[in-house]
Amino acid sequence: MKKTIRQHIETDDYFCGFSIRSRGKARPADSKPMRDTRETQEDSIEALRARIALCEKCILHTTRTQAVPGEGCAQATLMFVGEAPGADEDAQGRPFVGRAGALLDKIINACALNRCDVYITNILKCRPPGNRDPHPDEIAQCLSYLEAQIKAIQPTVIVALGAHAARTLLGTDAPIGKMRGLFHEYTPSGTERPIKLMPTYHPAYLLRNYSHENRKRVWEDMKKVIEALGLPLPEKGAG
Ligand code: URA
Repeated sequence: MKKTIRQHIETDDYFCGFSIRSRGKARPADSKPMRDTRETQEDSIEALRARIALCEKCILHTTRTQAVPGEGCAQATLMFVGEAPGADEDAQGRPFVGRAGALLDKIINACALNRCDVYITNILKCRPPGNRDPHPDEIAQCLSYLEAQIKAIQPTVIVALGAHAARTLLGTDAPIGKMRGLFHEYTPSGTERPIKLMPTYHPAYLLRNYSHENRKRVWEDMKKVIEALGLPLPEKGAG
């Protein structure tokens, strides 16, 4: 309990000591979608939500309370991809709403953005029982939903939260410590435009390994993301 309170205080100091100057969408001025594009994006995301909600492609549909398709802005330029829903997400049908989600919110706010400016989803849309690691066949069955979400949203940058997300999207088994901090490229199948992908530590990992160094590493990664989006860096740096 004491550890949790200390983590909250330290996280506030670390990720929330910034002035929130811009609450606008994380989209550079030169890439505004036309109105009809925006409607198509919203329709596609809604259609995907409906399909995911009814999905029975893998065994996880037998143990879930509900699927967790993802949420946020259909025109977001910044997309976060985590691993899989946990117990809180399974209960609420929303991604990143537990302790890891609270930390992700702080990271997003530290970038002078809000949760509704970005799109948040996972590799798996249903909770693995007991929060076990995703099985390769479950990832293989579920991946087409994430690919379709990425194609609909067309983000400028994807942040892969943790090893599972980064390894799945980059098709590698490299350790997260080697991948993070550098932009990689993810090209959705059937498209030619590579999307910048920044792997960073999963918020749940950060909570378990709550050192100044690890928080600094995540903030360094996010600063690169903010820059790649053409957004102003928040005035005050992480302490
Ligand atoms: N961890 C994840 O990877 N995703 C969630 O939605 C919640 C916790």
